[in-house]
Amino acid sequence: MYFLNKNMNKHEGIIRCLSLTMIVIASGLFISIPFFKSAKIEKLDKHESASCMPNLDHLCRSDVTERRWKYIVIHHSATTKGNAARFDYYHKKKKGWEYGLAYHFVIGNGSFSGDGEIEVAERWKKQIHGAHTANMNCNHVAIGICLVGDFENGGTPTENQFGSLVGLVQYLSRKYNIPSSNILEHKHIHQKATACPGKNFPFAELKMRLQQIASKSSNHKEL
Ligand SMILES: [Zn+2]
Repeated sequence: MYFLNKNMNKHEGIIRCLSLTMIVIASGLFISIPFFKSAKIEKLDKHESASCMPNLDHLCRSDVTERRWKYIVIHHSATTKGNAARFDYYHKKKKGWEYGLAYHFVIGNGSFSGDGEIEVAERWKKQIHGAHTANMNCNHVAIGICLVGDFENGGTPTENQFGSLVGLVQYLSRKYNIPSSNILEHKHIHQKATACPGKNFPFAELKMRLQQIASKSSNHKEL
């Protein structure tokens, strides 16, 4: 009897212990579900922003009267990683540039912002001239777009980055009536020599993709 009771007690103990474990696991799950869920949503949003073109009308809206932009200049960051905040810090604190981030737009490569994510600088929102070339005449009328990456030393833009660049340049050139001849690489600007945006930047392909989009939309209008 004593043996039986002892066994029963033992079983009861195990059952109690198991129930307690189940309760702990269940409450743990209950508590963690929202965290898992929000993490998943955040990841999805990041993925979506990388693979789908955002609403550029919304993204490129500015707080003030727009400048008369005449050129678009493409840059690389000459770093393998980065994002707008990091470059802004560097330009503001290390270079001492009044308005910080020299560019109007930064397109991420998945290091510190999404792969293909377009970040809009305060400089654009306030329609302040760029600081992205050493030629101030150019900076006053040129929109500066920087792709995160070093395309001079082996790197190339990611597919998402390049897709975002094509979309953004197409949107801005149409909005401000900027001809294809005024879409330039930084090294085209008359200033001290620079390799920017690097020898691996596929500039000819950019021009070709823009041309394809333009001819598609003009064919569409004719129909
Ligand atoms: Zn540059």
